[in-house]
Amino acid sequence: MSQAPHAYEALLELFEGEGSRDYLGEQVSMAQHMLQTAEAARRAGAAPGLVVAAVTHDVGHFTGVVSGRDLMEGVDDHHDEVAAAWLATWFGEEVTEPVRLHVLAKRYLCATDAGYYDCLSEASRYTLGLQGGPMTAREVAAFAARPFAEDAVLLRRCDDAGKDPDGETLTLGHFRQDIEALDRTISAGISAG
Ligand code: FE
Repeated sequence: MSQAPHAYEALLELFEGEGSRDYLGEQVSMAQHMLQTAEAARRAGAAPGLVVAAVTHDVGHFTGVVSGRDLMEGVDDHHDEVAAAWLATWFGEEVTEPVRLHVLAKRYLCATDAGYYDCLSEASRYTLGLQGGPMTAREVAAFAARPFAEDAVLLRRCDDAGKDPDGETLTLGHFRQDIEALDRTISAGISAG
């Protein structure tokens, strides 16, 4: 039976491959974007689980059957759910759930924070429509009651801050320790294939 590589190796392959390409309508690559998001989460004092969520939150744009490119052509790629499912190979809920909720968090913030929409990038405003638009009052209440909703909101704010073409970008290696500390295939003693 072939064994899955550990998370760090799998992520490194994505970051150096598809992730180094354009990030759908933004001025940074997908990898730069996720690294800047993680750096913002770390600066905000986020726990390691949320930092790892930040550095992985958009992997669903390139691990899914429907890609991020399709998203920009008007078909939602559901990258939140795709990423959460892929990440569950290695990580627990403290990583997968904020990732799963990070698009809902955008819809939540658009409904609850008057200044939020204006700080969204043009691409992010475009996809908001495809993703369901701002939440209704009922959706807001349901979202706020979900476990990890607060983490998802913090992730979302870091996400929006992580699109700076002139911003400093760390490497994935800067997050290796957090990634490996939370990788359950390492703690379970499963070796990289
Ligand atoms: Fe993002």
